[in-house]
Amino acid sequence: MSTRDYLEKDYYKVLGVAKDSSAADIKKAYRKLARRHHPDANKSDSAAEEKFKEISEAYHVLSDDKRRREYDEARALFGAGGFRYGAPGQPGTGGAPFDLGDLFGEGRRAGGIGDLFGGIFGGRTRPGGSRATQRGRRGADIESEVRLGFTEAVDGTTVQLRMTSDAPCQTCAGTGAKAGSTPRVCPECMGAGQIAANPGGGFAFLEPCRACRGRGLVVDDPCPICHGSGRAPSSRTMRVRIPAGVRDGQRIRLKGKGAAGENGGPNGDLYVVVHVGRHPVFGRKGDNLTITVPVTFPEAVLGADIKVPTLGGAPVTLRVPPGTSSGRTFRIRGRGVTRFDGTRGDLLATAEVAVPQSVDGTAKEALESFRDATEGDDPRRDLMERARGE
Ligand SMILES: [Zn+2]
Ligand SMILES: [Zn+2]
Repeated sequence: MSTRDYLEKDYYKVLGVAKDSSAADIKKAYRKLARRHHPDANKSDSAAEEKFKEISEAYHVLSDDKRRREYDEARALFGAGGFRYGAPGQPGTGGAPFDLGDLFGEGRRAGGIGDLFGGIFGGRTRPGGSRATQRGRRGADIESEVRLGFTEAVDGTTVQLRMTSDAPCQTCAGTGAKAGSTPRVCPECMGAGQIAANPGGGFAFLEPCRACRGRGLVVDDPCPICHGSGRAPSSRTMRVRIPAGVRDGQRIRLKGKGAAGENGGPNGDLYVVVHVGRHPVFGRKGDNLTITVPVTFPEAVLGADIKVPTLGGAPVTLRVPPGTSSGRTFRIRGRGVTRFDGTRGDLLATAEVAVPQSVDGTAKEALESFRDATEGDDPRRDLMERARGE
């Protein structure tokens, strides 16, 4: 059943029922007519046979809810009986039969209706059509690397990147043709750059034209520099702003800083992989900086206010409380890495008791008297007991 049938035939009229008839009424009307026009009852009556076919067709459509709905919609959309495009004998139409597939595909032939559906179906690109040649091609993405010092990564910096990328050949201005000559439109694809694969099949999809490798243009006399491709490697230097707080191994995306697009297409993106060097004193744990701060035995035991360096700032005073163990970490707020939102991480300062390599004189005497004064204290007693138990 073609769309033309739907548009030209009034199945309700054939069955003699109203458009809003119930399924039962339609069935009743069909049975009555079918009996009257059945070929068995009208032998050698070709008119009756034709009528019977018509009735069967009408019932086939109207007895099925889905088909009836489609039929009603098609007629509501194009006007019941009013759409006679392509009907035999009509002047200027060529008399070619058509169905909805034609409507969607042959925009030019169907006129306004083709345009209507062109938008819905995404504007199928046809070989030789203007849409294909105008479509811009997005530039390639480029990946680059940058080495930063520890402080540069924490504070952010601007670096110069030298990049080699594919750009229009300067000698031929991207045409690929030798000076004085011009490329011509590819005769295979008529400049579209792509041709329909599987022609004649139910589904035609497009693939790049082999004759012009998708360019839509062929060059008879190639440019000696780019050998006809129209592209040439070019190096350029770019200043790239690296934001504060980047980490080692991080990949930064710079939108639109990649290779240039073609035919007005957008530029590709530039990805910069960051390598961050080490610092002799500070380390990084995400947005926090780390530092190991030596303290003396008396400072750890008695407590003290000690100076701690910060990255790129004045030292801060840290209060070490009495009885601080070696390895205890203190959080100094807001002295870490600047985050992307402008807030800052913390500085994590770890106390480490510094043990003198040798002592003598009064210091040694003082330590010996400290030992005598604390003779009964055995820090390993608990350890021994726990080692014996299970
Ligand atoms: Zn071509
Ligand atoms: Zn060239």
